[in-house]
Amino acid sequence: MLNHYQSPWFKEALNAEGEISINQLTSKETSDVCIVGGGYTGLWTALKIKEKNPALKIIIIEKDLCGSGASGRNGGCMIPLSSKFPAMKTIVGTKDAIKMVKASEEALNKIKDFCELNNIDAQIRINGIVYAATNNKHRGGFDNLISELKENNINSWKKLSKEKVQNLTGSNRNIDGYFSPIGGSLQPALLVRGLKKIAEKKGITIFERSQMLSYKNKSKIIVKSTNGSVECKKLVVAINAWTPSFFNFLSRSVILVSSDMIISEPISSELEKLNLNNGLVVLDSNLFTHYYRSTIDGRIIFGKGGNTFSLNNKVIKSFDGPSSIENFLKKSLINFFPSLLNKKITQSWNGPSERTKTGFPFFGYHPKNKNIIYGFGYSGNGILPTFVGGEILSDMVLEEKNGWTKSNFCKGPIKLFPPEPFRWIGAVIIRNAVRRKEYAEQNELNPSWIDKQLAKLATSVGRVDRIKD
Ligand SMILES: Cc1cc2nc3c(=O)[nH]c(=O)nc-3n(C[C@H](O)[C@H](O)[C@H](O)COP(=O)(O)OP(=O)(O)OC[C@H]3O[C@@H](n4cnc5c(N)ncnc54)[C@H](O)[C@@H]3O)c2cc1C
Repeated sequence: MLNHYQSPWFKEALNAEGEISINQLTSKETSDVCIVGGGYTGLWTALKIKEKNPALKIIIIEKDLCGSGASGRNGGCMIPLSSKFPAMKTIVGTKDAIKMVKASEEALNKIKDFCELNNIDAQIRINGIVYAATNNKHRGGFDNLISELKENNINSWKKLSKEKVQNLTGSNRNIDGYFSPIGGSLQPALLVRGLKKIAEKKGITIFERSQMLSYKNKSKIIVKSTNGSVECKKLVVAINAWTPSFFNFLSRSVILVSSDMIISEPISSELEKLNLNNGLVVLDSNLFTHYYRSTIDGRIIFGKGGNTFSLNNKVIKSFDGPSSIENFLKKSLINFFPSLLNKKITQSWNGPSERTKTGFPFFGYHPKNKNIIYGFGYSGNGILPTFVGGEILSDMVLEEKNGWTKSNFCKGPIKLFPPEPFRWIGAVIIRNAVRRKEYAEQNELNPSWIDKQLAKLATSVGRVDRIKD
């Protein structure tokens, strides 16, 4: 069924489905709403529209299988947007930033409730998140963030003692950290394939292996695929990493970079000893964080963002293959957990994540046609925010005039990257400077002045708004 390299999650989810029948677009269809892209964003948007206005005819078209993009291959770490609060506050304003933090936090239980209600077993475990410091330079990195969150009555983080952080995260490498109970993990592909099934049950038509090749944007909107088309009143483009190639006006809104991951063989008894068998999400404080968690079947996954940047923001072939830094990831895993030295890594993989200059997503309307709507830019943190994205995009489709549609999140990209080739060259120079800086910090050495200055240019794209540099 799979025609290319895929994550273990996706293979597991498809195997669980057994025989899959693929509905391809081979005719001229009409609908009220056509959604392009069958990942979390497209599927949540469709489900929300259906919930708000069941009479609307909705069609989703997906170029491969639903979930074959980031939604079926991510780390499964559910992380709200509270760590981006300072940047959001400065860029979109305090009111909208608070709304987004709260909505991304509420998404955690809403996704869990949705799955329970609809019998989707996405292996959800809500046991919190730890942001840890692995060197003295990273200590105290959340202190200012917590003050700002407290000032606005939205703080869920608390500082941990060294003993507590090591006990919770299973690694002596973590010397300081912060815990929030609002987070957890899941099997990402079981969620996206479950959403697909429920969407179909609710009357949403889904065409897979049906790529949008072009669209006509005159008096009518017509989406063209190889053997068919969809005429619609509203078009939602939810194609994530593929967006900058498709919409030229968004070509500078993100930078595509890989997120790379490895997974171990089952090691339940070791995880038990490390106190890690509960799905807690652990991240370090690097700009492109290391992150890890256990799985329900007793494996550990370990990942890191920020390796391969693609020229012209193209979804390049290597994004659909094993990780080119598999050995580096194995070494890093052993650094955190020396006791896992002889354990097998069964697979590595990677995928494109679209980092915005602000580090958080945006939504908007096509500059020449308000009936064409888009949303992306989750910056490597999309499981909870795509649920919020579905809410926002559905309101935009339904022309609701409310707190979301009037917010600054719905005004398209607020900050842009430079054009090519400066974007790619700059990204690689900055990535290398960040690597040298973080390597020096990890070894308790002073990074060079120039590396610190270059790294500062990238601070905003990270998951956390750290005040310390
Ligand atoms: C390796 C990796 C690890 C990650 N880890 C985490 C994590 O641990 N936690 C977290 O919160 N987030 C993580 N993320 C981010 C998260 O996975 C994404 O933000 C989220 O899945 C985005 O969902 P989406 O529906 O917008 O995009 P996608 O899931 O990428 O869906 C877009 C869909 O559009 C389809 N498509 C593209 N072009 C066309 C076309 N022309 N016609 C039709 N269909 C088209 C694609 O095939 C794809 O299925 C990770 C991302 C990656 C890549």
